[in-house]
This record gives sequence, structure tokens and C-alpha cells, in this order.
Amino acid sequence: MRKKMFKKGSSANWFLGLFVVLFLVVVARTVIGVSGNDSKPDVVATEQQVVVSEKPVVLTFSDVLRRAEDIKSINIRDKDANGVLKDGTKFKAVISYDPEFLTKLSEKGAVVSIDSSQSWVDVLGTWLPIIFTLLIVFWIFRGLRGGASGGLSRTLLAQNPTKVTTGKPKTTFADVAGIDAEKQELMEIVEFLKNKDKFKALGARVPRGVLLSGEPGTGKTLLARAIAGEANVPFFATSGSDFSGIIVGLGVAKIKEMFEMAKRNAPCILFIDEIDAIGQKRSSHSFNDQDREQTLNQLLIEMDGFANETGIIVIGATNRPDMLDTALLRPGRFDRQVQIELPDLAGRDAILNLHAKKFKISPDVQLKDVARGTTGFSGADLENLLNEGALHAVRAGHKSVEQSDLDEARDKILMGPKKNRKMRAEDIKLTAYHEAGHAFVSVIYADVTDPIHKATIVPRGRALGMVQHLPVDDKVSMTIQEVRANLAVAMAGRASEEIFFGADKITTGAEADIDMATRLARYSITTAGLSPKIGLAAVKQVAAFGMRTQLESASEQTAQMVDAEIRSWLDKAHADAVKILTKNKKTVEKLADELLKRETLTGEEIKEIVLGGKKSKPEAKKMVKKRVKKTNAKK
Ligand code: ADP
Ligand code: ZN
Repeated sequence: MRKKMFKKGSSANWFLGLFVVLFLVVVARTVIGVSGNDSKPDVVATEQQVVVSEKPVVLTFSDVLRRAEDIKSINIRDKDANGVLKDGTKFKAVISYDPEFLTKLSEKGAVVSIDSSQSWVDVLGTWLPIIFTLLIVFWIFRGLRGGASGGLSRTLLAQNPTKVTTGKPKTTFADVAGIDAEKQELMEIVEFLKNKDKFKALGARVPRGVLLSGEPGTGKTLLARAIAGEANVPFFATSGSDFSGIIVGLGVAKIKEMFEMAKRNAPCILFIDEIDAIGQKRSSHSFNDQDREQTLNQLLIEMDGFANETGIIVIGATNRPDMLDTALLRPGRFDRQVQIELPDLAGRDAILNLHAKKFKISPDVQLKDVARGTTGFSGADLENLLNEGALHAVRAGHKSVEQSDLDEARDKILMGPKKNRKMRAEDIKLTAYHEAGHAFVSVIYADVTDPIHKATIVPRGRALGMVQHLPVDDKVSMTIQEVRANLAVAMAGRASEEIFFGADKITTGAEADIDMATRLARYSITTAGLSPKIGLAAVKQVAAFGMRTQLESASEQTAQMVDAEIRSWLDKAHADAVKILTKNKKTVEKLADELLKRETLTGEEIKEIVLGGKKSKPEAKKMVKKRVKKTNAKK
């Protein structure tokens, strides 16, 4: 009964609202129209329209300005202008509309006409957004009034339930691998949930909120569940993005509801994923700013409100902790912050081993090697890799997941699926020599570069072929020797093309190599201070989140020196590669032939071909030493 009454009232509101909206729009249009005509008395407005029969020349806006005197007539419709020059040439141009421009044109004697007849699309284009905006404003007012009385927000809440997953998870810390330090830190929370009274008796200030920050897939949700599982308490999970909506007041109501639920079930864990969606710094000015601010305030109120002994722990997760409003991080709120990094080599190994239990993995598989080849993978990525590997094993008809399946899965995740691109025979041949060049030089520099894992001419993603390296360990830095060896390896693909096919047959296929090499050289010289010529000055620095910020703006002179130095490093790397490959033409040819025959060669097979069983390692070492000495001498 009450509901019905409410509805009636609201539809009456709607009619009134629409009426007011239309009225406002009409008034607005009239006012705009009138003032628009009055303020430009010197513009001759005629209805004549330029008929374009032959193709008009296209002028830029500045052309039009510059040649104002040459213009006989011009017709303007929005940003498009059509006209005739005094010599009879027709022209068209895209102009920036401004009254002064029109005045200037007519002063120079041009006949200016403005075509203001509106097409249907134009009418809709101007009116619809206005009507829409006003409707939304009404909607918001309704929301506010409802929020005050409480009735409406409850109705809205019923219509837009918060998505909460709940239950007592069976997840424990044993399901989380590779992040032992973080687990250790969170153990305290588990202790508190288990023995609230002990904490209380000692008067210890107990945590209320924990902020887990880290990239997606690093196990934040998993950890939160594991805390609940370890402590054997209920787990409520929602996402911050669920709280922001266009309906003002709903977020606040949802927060209230969620905390009520948590209080009824305490002790418990309340997990809010993507908390940055609510807790963003209150500075940006977006449309639903006000709403978000209210929601955030409500969250702060709730977090301040519950007494410590209730035993609610709020766990927030975000991958942008820097975006959070500092009010959220104050004591008594999210005062524990745990940063979860992407797993390191040992961590990846542990995570792979943990998840591998779910799959039938061949005993030959070296998960450690998989871990080595997956720098930068998150826990979720690794799980996905195992799953992709298993899928591939099924397709390939293997009895268990083999190393090749996991390799394939990794390549697919990193580079995209295999391509069945038809390539011309000579393209395939050139690719084989290109990759053979990379492979040969990287074996020569085996001591300073990552060991070669495989070379292939099977196209994948945008790559026509590739040589992969497997780092022995996670790299945190590179020596100058490594940098220069890597540059030579990168340049060896193109070098090989030149040597075996001639300078006039080189291809664009080396694009990625050149790009990588240039970036590495630039970074080493401008940021890492590896160049004696430029010295220990940061000319440019790459800031967090990949955005390039210029810390020290370089003088023109320095910039020129940097450019010259980068070029000299790259030229040197290229020359080195050419020298090595020219000296060993026979072996490189053999390597390319094998690639053409077998498409993919493992690191072992490549070494076998290049070194031919002989121990030429010392030789390679000598070469590198000589080269480095030369570099240093060049200062
Ligand atoms: P986030 O919440 O950080 O985005 P999730 O917790 O949702 O990441 O992780 C997704 C999945 O990835 C988990 O369910 C788990 O299977 C796997 N995973 C991620 N990190 C780990 C880890 N450290 N140990 C074991 N599994 C992990
Ligand atoms: Zn290449």
C-alpha cells in the first residue's frame, strides 16, 4: 500500500520534471539564439548556399585567414566552410568558429553567409544531452530526498543488492606460496581473530584495517581468504567498484548494510577489492565525485565506529595505493599496509610447484626452468600457464603435461598464439639466417648474457621467429659488459641479413631488435650512468608506472652528446656482430640450415652446432675481454 502511494507521487514528479526540463530548454535555446544574432551585426547573413560542382581545393584555417582578401564568398556551416576565391576557384576548409574571424572576413569584402538550418541529427545532438543531463539531475534530487527519509534508499538497495560473496573459506596459508614474508606479517591478524581476549587483556591496540597492495593476480584475494580460513571466521567479499554508481546515496547505503552484516557475524573478515574505486584521493572532478566522497566518508565513519573488540577486520586490496585518500591510511583505519610484490624466482618456483599438484605433470618437467623463464609473471599468471600447458597437452595427445606443452603455453601467453601465416620461401630463409645470427652471437657471449633457451622460425604474434634466453636468476641490474653483449646479440639478426643476403636485401624484420637495443642503450647512457662520455648525470629518468618524466632537462649540447653516444654504442654493437658472424660464416650457415630443417632448436642443440663439441668458451671470453677493454680505452 505504501509502496503504491510512493509510486504515484513519483510519476507525478516525473511529469512535472519533464515539463520543467522542456521549458528550460526552450528558454535556453531562445536566449542563445537571440544573443547569437544580435552580437554580430556586421556579418551579412544570407540563406544562399554554395553549390559545389567541381572539386574544391582544400585550405587550412590559417590559409583562409591569410588569404582573406582573396575570398569572394564563404558559406559556413558549423566547422565546415565552402567558398569561392576572387579568381573563381572553389575551396573548402575546416575552420574554428569565432566571431572575430567572421568580422575580419567581411571587412575584407568577402560575402559571408552562415548556414544555420539544422538537420534532424543536429537537433537531436543539441537537445538530447541537455534533456538527458536534466533528467539525471532530477534523478539525483530524488535520490537525495529519499536518502534523507531512508525509505527510498532502502528500495534502491533492494533493487541494487551489494554483491557479497560469503562463507567460511577452507583456504589456508598453505594455499599461498612464494610470499612467506607477507604471510608472516598477516599471521598476527589471524592470532588476533583467534584470541581476541588475550589481546584485549594486554590492552594492545588491535588492527582494524589491512591494506594489501600489489599488482593484479599477486594473491591479495587469496591471502584475505586464507586469513579467514586460518582463523576460522566468516569471509565477506565485495568490490569497491560496486559502490560507485550514478545513483547518489546508494553507495552510502550499501556501506552501512555491509557493516551491519559484518557486525552481526563478527568476528569476521570484510574484504573490499579494488578499494581505490571508493577511496580515491578527493581531488579529481568527475561527475559522481560527490557520491564517491559520501561513500568514502561513510566507510571512514564505519571504520572509526566499531569498537575494537567486535573483531571485524577490514581488508582492502588495491593495485594503486598511491591513489588512495590519505584519510584511509590513518591510525584506526587501514593502518596495516602490506605490499605484495610480483614473485621472485624462488617464489615462482614455489607457486608453480603448489599448483602443479592439480595437474598430471610429467616427471621430466623442470618447473625450475619454467620459473626461470617467467620473470614478471604473477601467481595468477603462473596458474594460468600450467592450465594452458595442460590444455595443450590434451590437444597434442600427451599422457601428461610435458615441458614442450609448458613452453608452448608460455610463448602463447607472452607472444600470442602460433600463426599459420603462409610465408614465401625466401622470407623463411631470411628469417632463419636472422635468428641464426642472434643465436650464434649469443652463444659467443654466453658468459655475459643469459643462456640461450631456444631459437625458432615459427611465427607467433607479430614475430616471424625468435631467439629466447632464460635468465639463471632474477636480474636486478646489468653490468656494462652485459649491456654491450646484449646490444651485439640484438644487432646480430640484421647483421646476418646483411652478410648473407647483401645490404640491399635487408628487411624491416629487425624493427623490434633495434627498438630494444636503442632503449637499452639510452637507458644505460642517460639513466644508469654507464657511459664515461656522459658521465654520472641522470639526463632523463623513468618514473614509476612507466611514465617518462624528465628529471634533469638536458641542455641542447648534452642532448646531442647523448644522441651521438647512443649511436656510437649501437654502431659498435652492430660492427661487433658483423665481425663475429663474418668470421664464422660456415657455422652460421649450418645453424640456419638446421633451423630451416627443424624450425626450432633448443639451447643445447644450438650450442652443439656452434661450439661443435669443442671448448671455444675461453676463446669467447677472450673476445669479450678485449672488447670491453677497447670500450673503456675509448673514453
Ligand atoms: P589478486 O586478488 O591479487 O588480483 P588473486 O588472489 O585473485 O589475486 O589471485 C588469483 C589466483 O592466482 C589465486 O586464486 C591463486 O590460484 C593464484 N595465486 C596468486 N598468487 C598466488 C600465490 N602466492 N600462491 C598461490 N597461488 C597464487
Ligand atoms: Zn631479431
